[in-house]
Amino acid sequence: MSVKPVPAGGFVARVPVAIVGAGAAGLCAALAAHEAGVETIVLERDAVPRGSTALSAGLIPAAGTRWQKALGIADSPALFAADINDKSHGESDAAIVDLVAREAGMTVEWLADRHGLPFSLVHDFDYPGHSARRMHGLPTRAGAELIDQLRDAAERAGTTIITDATVTTLYADGARAIHGVEITRPDRARDSIGCQALVLACSGYGGAADIVARHIPEMRDATYFGHRGNRGDAVLWGEALGAELRHMSAYQGHGSVAHPHGVLITWAVIMEGGFQVNAEGRRFSDESRGYSEQAAVVLTQPGGIAFDIFDTHIATVARQFEDFRQAEACGAVIEAGTVAELAERLSLAPRALAESFAEVEDAKRSGITDRFGRSFAGRKALSPPFKAVKVTGALFHTQGGLAIDVSARVVGMRGEPLPNLFAGGGASAGVSGSRASGYLSGNGLLTATVLGRVAGQSAAELVRRRE
Ligand SMILES: Cc1cc2nc3c(=O)[nH]c(=O)nc-3n(C[C@H](O)[C@H](O)[C@H](O)COP(=O)(O)OP(=O)(O)OC[C@H]3O[C@@H](n4cnc5c(N)ncnc54)[C@H](O)[C@@H]3O)c2cc1C
Repeated sequence: MSVKPVPAGGFVARVPVAIVGAGAAGLCAALAAHEAGVETIVLERDAVPRGSTALSAGLIPAAGTRWQKALGIADSPALFAADINDKSHGESDAAIVDLVAREAGMTVEWLADRHGLPFSLVHDFDYPGHSARRMHGLPTRAGAELIDQLRDAAERAGTTIITDATVTTLYADGARAIHGVEITRPDRARDSIGCQALVLACSGYGGAADIVARHIPEMRDATYFGHRGNRGDAVLWGEALGAELRHMSAYQGHGSVAHPHGVLITWAVIMEGGFQVNAEGRRFSDESRGYSEQAAVVLTQPGGIAFDIFDTHIATVARQFEDFRQAEACGAVIEAGTVAELAERLSLAPRALAESFAEVEDAKRSGITDRFGRSFAGRKALSPPFKAVKVTGALFHTQGGLAIDVSARVVGMRGEPLPNLFAGGGASAGVSGSRASGYLSGNGLLTATVLGRVAGQSAAELVRRRE
């Protein structure tokens, strides 16, 4: 990945706005720029756009939406922004937090009303750190459906998506204005495309082991569960252009990936009253703080594994997720009629598991916060048949990246905007502060959809101003 001077021979084609990456951020950018009446081209390295977006649960948090109002849920952008700030320990850029909290509702409604994505609200359980139920998802609650619907919408709208096109070079002048890009095809053929504005929507650096080791040493040996094609290209170009990189140690982990099956087990199994034990049958943490920070915690347990313990009622809630249904289909979810039988099936010490059960059920009955600081207030006692899944911790995606302003314009080391370079989603710094514990559920798709849309609008505006 390199930044080079503008080629003497010029470009084989020209487009007003070029977008690198066809995940949620890139496709929202394309839809927005196209709607502003500016021609765009999306350049995607894979044969079919998938990205981390396809691997996600496809849930987008948004406040004050019509789906919330229909269910009488009181929420507001200010409350949402406060939740993001609380979770990220006040470390995130306040202006970007306000922007995404304010624009998320209209972004989800725009995708639904203008582009036909059939969102509904996840209304039957709480996500850690959210003070209102505000996760919006498509019927399967799977990111594969989200990316397919976004791609269909972009194609219907008439945007051009070029696949099998890895952007390998940015062409920039001495003032850091981008004049075009070079793409490399799978057969190594190369083409250069000129542009007036460029949007980087090529996500983070989870697929670049060296960058992860440098910035996130605690996840160096963890399984990377995100899209392998996200190799830190935006960060490498940003460094070469003298852009500011922010919060490079931030990431979304997950402490509940079925092992060895490699299927995400929704954190609903924990939030609804389930808990985790380690290979000794003992609890080890306040699981309700969040699934992101739990990844590193699980990895420090014996063998780097844990067991999610829940029951049939909770499994019914979890079953709305395609991933959970897949986990059941591939035999990852174990069932037992008694705690002793569950211990036997999981090869756990029966006494330790029984004590862990008793501790949790005592906390539910008494309402007293447990020794780890977890409150089980309002959670029902687990009842047989019980369920369990062996899980491990994994790195899902990185949250650090290019610093941007409220127009999603990439900024340099002194906060000065670069002339015509924009970024959104995993390519830009997120709103999770500098640590895994700063990740509030949904921060990934929140910044992909909202900042992708803002980046597309801003790039189009820049082009129109120059016309
Ligand atoms: C298992 C899992 C579950 C998750 N669940 C959720 C969730 O429920 N809610 C939530 O908010 N977030 C979730 N996330 C995070 C979320 O998926 C990401 O934050 C979001 O998808 C990022 O979108 P993006 O468009 O920035 O990147 P991506 O969707 O990863 O798209 C980036 C695209 O850029 C392409 N690309 C990269 N480099 C180049 C290049 N040089 N040239 C051309 N193309 C390139 C890639 O191939 C890819 O298609 C989850 C992540 C994972 C892994």
